[in-house]
Amino acid sequence: MARDNLDILIVGAGPVGLTAAVELTRRGFSPRLIEKDTRPHKESRALAINPRSMDILEPNGATKRFIKAGIKARGMNFHAPDRLLFRLDMRNIPHPVRKYMLVLPQVETEKHLIATLGGNSKVDWKTELTGLVLKGGKPAVTLKRNGKTETLSPDIVIGADGAHSTVRKALGINFIGEAYEHDWGLADVHLDGLAPEELHIFDLSPLLIGFIPIRGDLFRVVADTTNVFDHMPSCVKVKKVIWESQFRISHRQVETYQKGPAFLAGDAAHIHSPVGGRGMNLGIEDAAWLAYLIAQDDTESYTQHRHPVAKNVLEKVDRATRIISSDGSVTTFLRRFVFPYIARRNFAQRNAFRNITGLDTPAPPWLE
Ligand SMILES: Cc1cc2nc3c(=O)[nH]c(=O)nc-3n(C[C@H](O)[C@H](O)[C@H](O)COP(=O)(O)OP(=O)(O)OC[C@H]3O[C@@H](n4cnc5c(N)ncnc54)[C@H](O)[C@@H]3O)c2cc1C
Repeated sequence: MARDNLDILIVGAGPVGLTAAVELTRRGFSPRLIEKDTRPHKESRALAINPRSMDILEPNGATKRFIKAGIKARGMNFHAPDRLLFRLDMRNIPHPVRKYMLVLPQVETEKHLIATLGGNSKVDWKTELTGLVLKGGKPAVTLKRNGKTETLSPDIVIGADGAHSTVRKALGINFIGEAYEHDWGLADVHLDGLAPEELHIFDLSPLLIGFIPIRGDLFRVVADTTNVFDHMPSCVKVKKVIWESQFRISHRQVETYQKGPAFLAGDAAHIHSPVGGRGMNLGIEDAAWLAYLIAQDDTESYTQHRHPVAKNVLEKVDRATRIISSDGSVTTFLRRFVFPYIARRNFAQRNAFRNITGLDTPAPPWLE
């Protein structure tokens, strides 16, 4: 069968399923994209689109839309309760042109990916995958929509259906890892007292509280405690809370990203703490790589390409999360005195930014 006639089903219209749809469409395929829910989300969810994702999404036109809609954060400020410890200057990002982190709420990222798809493909909302088996190596799929059942037998299934992936469970692939001990707090708030369009992290040992700018005086607050508002730094005046939530974070990864012609991408394949803002970006990379490998007729190498990348990120994020949420005197000393000393050097900033911006992952060969 000609590659562009492949019948491809993408499950889940989060940022990862949408990226798969956009990238496959750009390469001449006509995938079908289903989503059990509708949009928009109430929460802002992932906020940072890193330079690696922006490079990947440039050829299909999404990056241009994101830049128009988002804000360019150019500094990360690390504070003790009473003073600025150091500032990471995004001019040190080791990318030729993108010397910033683009902040755009996930709800908007998804909206612009849907607009990028345009008339080429549409999302089948309120359509849920309820069954998947591989029969003689070919997927047999059951969908439910408006109480009606549909069965189909696509050539390829892409499970971009999130952390609780039905596709992953149907394929019998284990999600190996564990949950951290602490619950974390999350809120979007209008506030005074912080420089806008910059990220701010306060070391209030034993707690850490981060502020990510969304727009104007609206910031996302993330803290390794559930009662975020009991621990606001004295310089911050909260004006209005838009929403708040608590969550337990886990770090898990699948052992394989594929079984026959069924594949996993994004949160369906790996989850980790929000430290570093890598989750959604890593998933965008998975989806774009998978589209490339499908076009190259080289899907057998998908796990080989993507598993080590997420494993490496999970290890780094796990180390950072444990340092951040540790209340030991040694880690407090490191955070207050050793890291600031090192972090004022440009080489250290470039190294930190290689990780934060996703430039520590293999460069996509199709962009070279
Ligand atoms: C409150 C909150 C805050 C977050 N904050 C951050 C952050 O600050 N930084 C960060 O990097 N990440 C953050 N995340 C995580 C980030 O949202 C995910 O990494 C990202 O959404 C992963 O994208 P995805 O497309 O893989 O999965 P998802 O966004 O989960 O999308 C999966 C989609 O699949 C659909 N689906 C599931 N099962 C089926 C089925 N059987 N049939 C059809 N459709 C199905 C779901 O409805 C969903 O729309 C946050 C998440 C939440 C919930």
